[in-house]
Amino acid sequence: MTSRVLASVVAGARYAGSAEQPDLNPSDPTDVVAVASMGDLDTAVAAVDAAATAFPGWAATTPWQRAEVLDRAGSEVLARADELGDLLAREEGKTLAEARGEVVRAGQILKYFAGVALQPHGQAVDSVRAGVEITVTREPLGVVTVITPWNFPIAIPAWKIAPALAFGNTVVFKPAELVPASAWELVDILNRAGLPPGVLNLVLGRGSQVGSALTGHPSVAAVTFTGSVETGRRILEALAGRSTKVQLELGGKNPLVVTDKADLGVAVECLVQGGFGSTGQRCTASSVLVATDGIHDALVAGIRSRLAGWRVGDARANGIDMGPVVDASQLEQDERYLAIAAAEGADVIGGRRLGDAGHFLEPALALGATVDSTISREEVFGPVVSVVRVADYEEAVAAANASTMNLSAGICTTNLAEAAHFRRASKAGMVMVNLPTAGVDFHVPFGGRGESSHGPREQGTAAVEFFTTSKTSYLAAGRP
Ligand code: NAD
Repeated sequence: MTSRVLASVVAGARYAGSAEQPDLNPSDPTDVVAVASMGDLDTAVAAVDAAATAFPGWAATTPWQRAEVLDRAGSEVLARADELGDLLAREEGKTLAEARGEVVRAGQILKYFAGVALQPHGQAVDSVRAGVEITVTREPLGVVTVITPWNFPIAIPAWKIAPALAFGNTVVFKPAELVPASAWELVDILNRAGLPPGVLNLVLGRGSQVGSALTGHPSVAAVTFTGSVETGRRILEALAGRSTKVQLELGGKNPLVVTDKADLGVAVECLVQGGFGSTGQRCTASSVLVATDGIHDALVAGIRSRLAGWRVGDARANGIDMGPVVDASQLEQDERYLAIAAAEGADVIGGRRLGDAGHFLEPALALGATVDSTISREEVFGPVVSVVRVADYEEAVAAANASTMNLSAGICTTNLAEAAHFRRASKAGMVMVNLPTAGVDFHVPFGGRGESSHGPREQGTAAVEFFTTSKTSYLAAGRP
C-alpha cells in the first residue's frame, strides 16, 4: 500500500519539500503511517513571508471572526476524536485512551481560546493629570513561530496556535519530525474552518535545517518553543541581541514526595500514573520518587505489585496500560540511563526490552538512588523512575528542590501542615497534592522554573502575556 505524502502548507497551498521521510509506527516500525515531504530553507522563508503578508488582514479581523474559526475547528477536532486519537496513537505510541484524551484536550483548547478572543483584555484608567484619559490595549505581535516536540503531537500545537490566532497573530508552525501526521491534520482543520491563506502555515522539516530561518527571519516577531533544554538554549543564544520575543518550555525533572503520612493506595497510583503514563514521555512525568523512611518499603512493594499487572503492548490494542517508547534512539537513551544507574550503585528493577518488533520497554525502578545520582538529575524521558529514600519530611523537601528543571512537583500526604508547607516551599512552577505530577488543566497558567522555562507562562489566563503586546494611550480630551 502506498502511503499518504504529507507536505508543508504555505499560504493555504501544498508546498512540496526536497526529501521524503517516513512517519513510522513505534509499535510496529514496518507500518508507515505517512511520508513527510521535508521542507528546507526555501520552505521556511516562504512560510514566514506568507505569514507576514497575511498579518495586517488577520490583525484587522474582529474578535468574533477569530472566535468563529477557532470554535468551528474545535468542534471538528472533538467530532473526530476517535479517528484522530487512533492516528496519534499510531504515530506517537501513547495508548488509544491517552491519545483520544489528548485530542479531546486539543478540541477543548481551541474552544477555550474562541471564548478568550471575545473577552475584554484592555483597561481604561484614570490619569494622575486632570483632563487626560488613559487606555491600555492589547495588540497582536505579528508573525509567531511555533516549534513543538513529539510527545504531545496535537495538544501542544493547539495550546500555542490557538492563542496566537485568537489575539490576531499569524503563525508558522514547525512540528517535531516524528509526528507530522497529527500536525498536518490540525492545520488542515484550522484552515478549512475559515482561516484566510497564510494566517497559519505548516513547515515540515528538520530543526537543524529550518530552525534558524524560522526563528531568526527578521519578519518573525515571536518564537514559542517547547522541547529539550539543549535546543531551547540554542534558540535563545541565536536570538541574543535581537528583539524577538521568546517563550521556552523545556525539560522537567519532577519529584513526587511520599511521606509517612500518605495514603499508600493514593501514593502508589500517583507514582504509577505520573511515572509510567504515556510511557513516561511527559515533561511533567514523576521521574524521581522521594520516599520517607517509614513508608519506603511498603510503597516500593505496592508499586511493584501494581506494575506486575501492567500491560505493555501495541498502543492501539485493547486493555493496554502502556505503549512503546517513541523510537529506537529514545529506547537506547532509556537503557543507557538504566545502565548508568546500575553502575552508580542503584538496584534496577525491570527495564527489559519486550517483544521483537516495536520499541517496547518494561517499566523500570532504580532503587537506592540518591539525589546526586545521574538518573535523579538528568531527564530520561522514558518509563524510568529513580527512588530516593530520605529520613524525614525536611529531607524530602530538600531532595525535591534539588532538581534544576523545576516544572512540576508533587506530594502525597494526608497531613495538612505538610501539604500546605510543601505548596509554599516547592521550587517548581506547578505543585500537586495527592495527584500525579503530570495532568494539568488548560484554563490556568502552565510552566516551570529554573532550567525548565523562559519567558511568560503558557495557556489559560497567562497566554495574553506572551501573544500580545500592550499599548498605553494618553488622550487630552479638552473641554466640550
Ligand atoms: P527537541 O528539543 O529535540 O525538539 C523540539 C523541536 O525543536 C522539534 O520540532 C525539533 O525539530 C526542533 N528543533 C531542533 N533543533 C532546532 C533548532 N536548532 N532550531 C529550532 N528548532 C529546532 O525535543 P523533543 O525530543 O522533540 O521533545 C522532548 C523534550 O521536550 C523533552 O526535553 C521534554 O521535557 C520537552 N517537553 C517540554 C514540555 C514543557 O511544556 N515544558 C512539554 C513537552 C515536552
